[in-house]
Amino acid sequence: MSLRARLALLYTFIVGGILLLFGMAVYVAVSITLTSQVDLLLARTAKTIVNNAGVNLLGELDMDAIQELDLSTDVYVQVWDRFGGLLDSSSNLPRSFDIPLDSVGLRATTPTYRDIYINNAHIRVLSVPLTISGSERVIGYLQVGTSMAVVDATQKTLLVILLIASVLAMGVAAFAGWISTRQALRPLETVTETALKITSADDLSHRIPYDGPPDDEVGQLIRAFNDTLSRLENLFDSQRRFLADVGHELRTPLTVIKGNIDLMRRMDCTDEESMEGIENEVGRLTRMVGDLLLLAQAESGRLPLEQHIVELDTLLLEAMGQMQVLAGNRLSLKLGEIDQVLVCGDQDRLKQVLVNLIGNAIKYTPQGGEVNVGLGKENDKAKIVVSDNGPGIPEEDLPYIFERFYRGEKSRTRSKDGKGFGLGLSIAYWIVRNHNGTIEVSSQTSKGTTFCVWLPLADKECKEEV
Ligand code: ADP
Repeated sequence: MSLRARLALLYTFIVGGILLLFGMAVYVAVSITLTSQVDLLLARTAKTIVNNAGVNLLGELDMDAIQELDLSTDVYVQVWDRFGGLLDSSSNLPRSFDIPLDSVGLRATTPTYRDIYINNAHIRVLSVPLTISGSERVIGYLQVGTSMAVVDATQKTLLVILLIASVLAMGVAAFAGWISTRQALRPLETVTETALKITSADDLSHRIPYDGPPDDEVGQLIRAFNDTLSRLENLFDSQRRFLADVGHELRTPLTVIKGNIDLMRRMDCTDEESMEGIENEVGRLTRMVGDLLLLAQAESGRLPLEQHIVELDTLLLEAMGQMQVLAGNRLSLKLGEIDQVLVCGDQDRLKQVLVNLIGNAIKYTPQGGEVNVGLGKENDKAKIVVSDNGPGIPEEDLPYIFERFYRGEKSRTRSKDGKGFGLGLSIAYWIVRNHNGTIEVSSQTSKGTTFCVWLPLADKECKEEV
């Protein structure tokens, strides 16, 4: 059964249940009210007769005192002696009717109301034992009764009205439930349609349109679904881009290697220059594969990281020594303020971060430029700053520079020098993230770039390397 049908059925049952309870309450209340009115009439009649009753010299009921039994045409009256003999009855009862209106009531010790059926006629009877005032001795019985036909008819009509109203209301509830659930579930149909479209067309660019309130349950579901789609689309896009980039990066060195081999084959000798070319390209490929493996591990959080105390200042001095060679006389590499800073992590990986950042600054800063490196502590964190006065990174490139294979336009053309793959910053980003740190960049074209790495300081739990 569909969700819609189930909801409509639920509405119907709920409305039906409420109406049933309500109907029962109305029916009981009306019945009690009507019956108590009848009881009041019987009690009043009985009281009038009892007030007139008296006792003769023999201590028996004096019928002469009770003169009037026909107080109302609707009320039947019988007076019985204590031996069960009928003394008198109202004229609306046939003379031949000499059985008690309520035979059980003739044994009652207190006034008792009972419903009796005589020849299928429903009669309510009040039996009152007559006693001499001041004593318990019963000298007779008075029975007053009246037909319940009107009460029964009223109850029957009420029951029919309630039943018809309930059935009608349940019908209306079923219809309203069917319509309103259709309204409420329509967006879900759109979700299903979109999901099917995506599956059949393999196109993640579809989004579910929704013009309802964005914060209701359906709005939230659709937003979550659309967010998931955006994320999936991004992931698929980046996977596609990644394959294209890897293919592109592999092609150049492989072409060079093949060209050199062809050349040597044609010349039928091992040419030293060609061999060097092959060696360079193989080295480049090996570096790229190594970087990719490292990145894959870091992105999946499976990068094996040591957790030891690392003296960042010593590490930075080491990296600066290496980088100085790269900078040569082309530009000035300066070490600014440097504090003694201890962090917890993997020394080799952290050095790789420093080398990548300083290396980039040297690589992209033109001759005569300046690269400044500093280390300090701020807000209980280690802060490494690498800044240069190079060409800067265009604003439109900034959000993407930490992505795999992302290279600025200028760097793309420049990478013919065979060095960059566009992986250096991604690797740095993931290593820093795996150390619970963050990496920030600020840049202005033609003025320079500053990278800032924040790392948590070493805590007591971090062990010294042995
Ligand atoms: P690449 O191998 O191209 O250097 P990276 O991931 O290290 O790859 O850097 C990504 C891109 O960020 C570079 O191609 C370059 O455009 C830009 N970039 C990084 N560092 C700098 C810098 N110090 N100055 C200018 N541009 C930079």
